[in-house]
Amino acid sequence: MSLRFYNTLTQNVEEFTPLHDNVVRMYTCGPTVYNYVHIGNLRTFTFQDILRRWLRARGYQLDHVMNITDVEDKIIRNAKAENKSIQEYTATYTEAFLEDIATLRLEQPERIVKATEHIPEMVDAIRQLEQRGFTYVSDGSVYYRIANFPSYGKLSHSDFSGIRAGARVDVDEYDKADARDFVLWKAQKDGEPGWDAPMGKGRPGWHIECSAMAMKYLGETLDIHTGGVDLTFPHHENEIAQSEAITGKPFVRFWLHAEHLSIDAQKMSKSAGNFYTLRDLLGMGYAPESIRYLLASVPYRKKLSFAFDGLKAATTSIERLRNYKLRLETDKFPAGTSAAVAARIQAASAAFDAALDDDLNTAEALGAVFEFIRDTNTAMDAGQFLAGNAVGALEFLARFDSVFDVLKSSAHTSGLSDAEVDALIAERTAAKKSKNFGRSDEIRAHLAAQGVILEDTKEGVRWKRS
Ligand code: AMP
Ligand code: ZN
Repeated sequence: MSLRFYNTLTQNVEEFTPLHDNVVRMYTCGPTVYNYVHIGNLRTFTFQDILRRWLRARGYQLDHVMNITDVEDKIIRNAKAENKSIQEYTATYTEAFLEDIATLRLEQPERIVKATEHIPEMVDAIRQLEQRGFTYVSDGSVYYRIANFPSYGKLSHSDFSGIRAGARVDVDEYDKADARDFVLWKAQKDGEPGWDAPMGKGRPGWHIECSAMAMKYLGETLDIHTGGVDLTFPHHENEIAQSEAITGKPFVRFWLHAEHLSIDAQKMSKSAGNFYTLRDLLGMGYAPESIRYLLASVPYRKKLSFAFDGLKAATTSIERLRNYKLRLETDKFPAGTSAAVAARIQAASAAFDAALDDDLNTAEALGAVFEFIRDTNTAMDAGQFLAGNAVGALEFLARFDSVFDVLKSSAHTSGLSDAEVDALIAERTAAKKSKNFGRSDEIRAHLAAQGVILEDTKEGVRWKRS
């Protein structure tokens, strides 16, 4: 079966191939850098990372652009409150965002671009809209006239034909019920930053930012545009209205939207105050790879309900994966190659690929991996897994990890020498013998924190640096 994605625009699962040669041109709405991102935001960015990695696993190259929104109402308000320029204020959170995505092992898009560095492109886009008759001016600000774009509503599948022409909004975010002409260029107000432009000194609205930057780098028609579901309306609807009014061509072929991460049945959000940042969870002792695993494990179009139990289960799953890999690398298997086991590896690999091809069904892909681990562990215990099968099983694990990226431990590797590790293991064995399980658990945890993984086997304790 071929690679398929659910397209919000058509409301269908469709086969995906890029428009031009082998390169996928993709755009992602990046963060508004007015604060630290929370793990809800990071769920959407993790989905995008899995998408990137799977497109590459399927042989495509990427030209992926992500913007950083570094001028916007909240930024202006917060910077003013702290007596900082917006550049100074946003630099802190841009850096924090890049650190957070690196901690979660999210690949950086090929280009990360800042709104404030693309004002001329936005001004140019607004001028083109003016020339084509899609704008009007009110109180010095420029608005987009949605009545002039007949297919307005096609992404959010809403009928806006009956709305009152000429009603306007100045804010960047609003509900479908409030659909109105939206602002493209905001006339400068006292104390706000402003850029010179033929329409008067001011600043861009949020929506024009993404249209201008996406088309500058990726051309008139993109293969994929991603974001969280909350961006479907109005942001992405407005991006389409702007871009297609300028070019007369389809702006995006595939729109992919990630469902929300919720907590206590509510969307995690800054405004509701019900959020954890990545830094909060790391401070509680959770490993980045456990958080990554949890965020990646639920298919992106399903709601993910955050709970600490889920994080603990993710940690256990990763431990199982690592122990299995250690067993593959260190067990002495009987000589030869089993055709039955080789077939099992093939089947697992095919099931893994099929699950991810099916609109990135990560839950099913993980299911295929764990079923495989269970079956082959049983074969190992029965002496049916042979030495020649280890390479194939390790290759399958490597393919899994090229997408999920959780096998390597983030724990800082210690300066513990092999002899020191052996001494601690001997002490742990003695503690277990004398039923001092508190001490033996303590030693295991201490070693784990130092990046040393233990596995108890019939032949004794095996260990490995992660
Ligand atoms: P923002 O910085 O608010 O523009 O958000 C950055 C990204 O995070 C956007 O793609 C949002 O749709 C997404 N997002 C915001 N809240 C959540 C949430 N609770 N779960 C998943 N994604 C979210
Ligand atoms: Zn955007």
